[in-house]
Amino acid sequence: MAETINLSGKMEKQLPAELVNFIRVAGEVVASKGQSLHLVGGVVRDLLLGQANFDLDLVVEGNAIELAQQLAGINQAKITTHPRFNTAKLQWNKWSVDLATARSETYAKPGALPTVKPGSLSNDLFRRDFTINTMALELNPSRYGDLIDLYGGNDDLKRKLIRVLHEKSFTDDATRIWRGLRYEQRLNFQLEPTTLQLLKRDIPLLDTISGDRIRHELELLFREKHPEEALRRADELGVLPKLHPSLKGNGWLAEKFEQARKLNAPNSPPIGLYLALLAYHLSNEENECLISRLRLSKPLAQILRDTISLKGKLQSLAEPELAPSSIYSLLYQYSSLAITANSLASDTPAVRQHIQVFLSKLRYIKSTLTGEDLKRMSIAQGHHIREILHLLHQARLDGKVTTKQGEESLVNSWLARNVK
Ligand code: ATP
Ligand code: MG
Repeated sequence: MAETINLSGKMEKQLPAELVNFIRVAGEVVASKGQSLHLVGGVVRDLLLGQANFDLDLVVEGNAIELAQQLAGINQAKITTHPRFNTAKLQWNKWSVDLATARSETYAKPGALPTVKPGSLSNDLFRRDFTINTMALELNPSRYGDLIDLYGGNDDLKRKLIRVLHEKSFTDDATRIWRGLRYEQRLNFQLEPTTLQLLKRDIPLLDTISGDRIRHELELLFREKHPEEALRRADELGVLPKLHPSLKGNGWLAEKFEQARKLNAPNSPPIGLYLALLAYHLSNEENECLISRLRLSKPLAQILRDTISLKGKLQSLAEPELAPSSIYSLLYQYSSLAITANSLASDTPAVRQHIQVFLSKLRYIKSTLTGEDLKRMSIAQGHHIREILHLLHQARLDGKVTTKQGEESLVNSWLARNVK
């Protein structure tokens, strides 16, 4: 038998002391109840890779909610429970730990959510997506830090391979297709040849996945450092067209994503901006298909609609001598992310410059006089007031007036000339 690998040293070195203490205590508490506790999934993978990951996933062969309630007291942690799956989350300071009761999962049909039953640790590891995510660490004090590697995860890590556990994996849950591409690109690994074949075979099953679940995968993708890489791969393999056949994961997209990151540094760009760039070349109708496929929220859908609609106005915005009030009237009705997306997408300097002026200055400019003020200046109600307010706002935007007095004399001069 192969020698047991022990990762307690790596845990000590790579995880914050507060988390290590928590894990130790949790292991002791569980052992005292005669149960067993394991650290599983991404954090084990990343400990072996030497990459920072502080999202702890614990699996208990026992009862996760009871255990969470016991452990919550130790750190005065906030506890959230999901009795249906018998899972719990503990949060304190900046830490968050997920606890799950070991379970097995079966799939009634492709695209369905799994049927969940209590199970052993090995059941729980077997339900997972890729071998590199199936490794676990013993937390009971007698074997603290021992690596449990039932499916060759560590070998695949060394060989830089993404491998499913069985040939029905993508059939059971086609979201794993997107997950696979995400890990492949993030870690700079390769899909193992059989896994790649199975993935290609099951691409049509992406149609069985609900909009909410596909959108969730896309949101996870947009949190990666370079989402364009998995999008390029998704395009190459025919996965991206399953979102919409006209989407492209090409060099243009990569360049625009990069610019979006520079613009938002040190934060990552908002999802709405990435999404707007991805959808940029769609027509209105195509865009509507994408919005309903992903069941986008109203605000996100609005950003996409605004993006496509504004794209149709860029020619007017490219005029070199545009008055500020004209820039304003071309842009004011659009969400700022849609405007930014258009600025990034356009290669015309005048467009970018006009958008820059609008976003940094024009959108904040207001005129001072109100409808009430105008009434006091004996202007009839209704239409005229609105029109005069609009003209005043334009005069402000164009720098023709800069003070309240200036606005009043402008209104008086219009009245004198009988301009409504
Ligand atoms: P990341 O670094 O992307 O967060 P992770 O491994 O922590 O990687 P999570 O999405 O947080 O990934 O999920 C935790 C674990 O749950 C994974 O390691 C994987 O074993 C399992 N998992 C998540 N989604 C699926 C899925 N669709 N099918 C099978 N197993 C999954
Ligand atoms: Mg995670």
